[in-house]
Amino acid sequence: MSSLNENLIRDVVTEVLSRLSGATIAAAAPAAAPAKHDCGCGGKGANGTPGLRGKYGVFSDANEACAAAHEAYLQLQKGGIAARAKIVEIVKNMADANSEAWGRLELEETKIGRLDHKIEKLKIIRLVPGVEWLRPDARSGDHGIMLEEYTPFGVVGAVTPSTHSIPTLSGNIVNIIAAGNAVVFNPHPSAARCAAVAVRAYNEAIFRETGIENVATIIERPSMDSFAAMCKHEAVRILLVTGGPGVVKAAMLTGKRAICAGPGNPPVYVDDTACLKRAAKAIIQGASYDNNLLCIGEKEVFSLDKITDGLMAQMELNGAVRLNSSQLDALTKAAFTITPGQGGGCSHAAVNKDFIGKDPSVLAKAAGINIPAGTQLLFAETDAQHPFVVEEQMMPFLPITRVRNLEEGVARSLEAEHGYKHTSIIHSNDLDALTTMGRALDTTLYIKNGPCMAGLGLGGEGYLSFSIATPTGEGVSNPRTFTRVRRCVMVDNLRIY
Ligand code: NAD
Repeated sequence: MSSLNENLIRDVVTEVLSRLSGATIAAAAPAAAPAKHDCGCGGKGANGTPGLRGKYGVFSDANEACAAAHEAYLQLQKGGIAARAKIVEIVKNMADANSEAWGRLELEETKIGRLDHKIEKLKIIRLVPGVEWLRPDARSGDHGIMLEEYTPFGVVGAVTPSTHSIPTLSGNIVNIIAAGNAVVFNPHPSAARCAAVAVRAYNEAIFRETGIENVATIIERPSMDSFAAMCKHEAVRILLVTGGPGVVKAAMLTGKRAICAGPGNPPVYVDDTACLKRAAKAIIQGASYDNNLLCIGEKEVFSLDKITDGLMAQMELNGAVRLNSSQLDALTKAAFTITPGQGGGCSHAAVNKDFIGKDPSVLAKAAGINIPAGTQLLFAETDAQHPFVVEEQMMPFLPITRVRNLEEGVARSLEAEHGYKHTSIIHSNDLDALTTMGRALDTTLYIKNGPCMAGLGLGGEGYLSFSIATPTGEGVSNPRTFTRVRRCVMVDNLRIY
């Protein structure tokens, strides 16, 4: 073999080995992205269409937002993994540094949730995985070597919810750009202004540091039409939607592959082997978080009859306030519009949006009760057909229903979860119960003996994302969710033994 060939093979092997090492992935990237933007474009951006420049990601026209993201994707490719890593670092640092201002802005615009938790949800963007997640896979054998790499799609079209607008957007940017894509957002109309503020700030910083503009774009005044235009745009290769049943259905009808982070209505089952104090504390922590806006949040509890009084006593001891039946009736009348069924059919309850994500004091007023300042959660005993059990209510109120045994607890939980396959929670130390519930509910997240957020790495093991792909099965989204797996093989060669 000639020395030229040997050198070539050595270089290729070195490259393959360095790519296989997650720790060295950034170091292996080409040094194409400048530490500071110095491309000589006079602030107009490199190689871009002039009309798409200087907007820092914020567009009134959906087609322009998609075209600009596509240009940025091509620039990002040139920047290599180093540019992706830099952008991820910028987004994480800025989400943290702006958490107070942006949390306040989002609360002022949406008027749902709690300021302390809006701030925290931005600080924890740090926990969203980045480029380190993309480790190639390799095989070697008698017939040579194979390398499978996680490569980008291009532009991802994303839809964000009103419940966590900037956090979802920021976490999505980290995942999607770490994987080498650009992204265009059609945000929730009632949380679009704050989202645009964050997108503009991210783009200004990213442009300053890397010379790439519009790697995350946003449609300033989103509508159903802009959603349709975004989905139809040829540069948009896949969709990521985070929201309720309407947007999941709409995304699946587009004909493009959609990663859908859909609705939930997480049930909690508590049995007589659980530590009731620990269960009560965890339930309060999860159900009160951001006034119960989390899709993973505890929405209804089924507890064994013989421990229900004990559980409710522990809930009160730990600061939750119990409503009696007339207070519950008053709150239900205010929080739902109930349409009686026709001809003996089932009645239908629609959640009153004025109560979604509101403070416990607002709910207490509707219930006709005074509660101590700082109360995090209200609760009451209900039957299993109560609207607070059946509907995804997103309020700091929790219904508790008695069940006779594990079979009934599991059956009621299944019914309440509506087959969303999103999240279920159990408090138990009985191995049979833990296994039975997990198998029966078949949910994407299943949390044992902890609050819901433990399922996203907050007080439990795992990693964070604000988009949990439930009906389409990708699970807690991460950079790999937004990649195409591509394989290359070398036949009969390149093995080093
Ligand atoms: P929503 O369904 O009202 O809105 C979500 C997004 O979808 C918004 O941007 C909205 O404008 C858009 N949208 C709604 N219907 C649409 C349609 N027919 N066509 C196109 N776009 C449409 O939800 P929300 O109230 O903002 O958020 C709460 C919901 O999102 C809950 O159901 C919650 O469980 C779910 N959620 C799920 C996750 C997850 O990771 N699985 C995360 C957060 C929220």
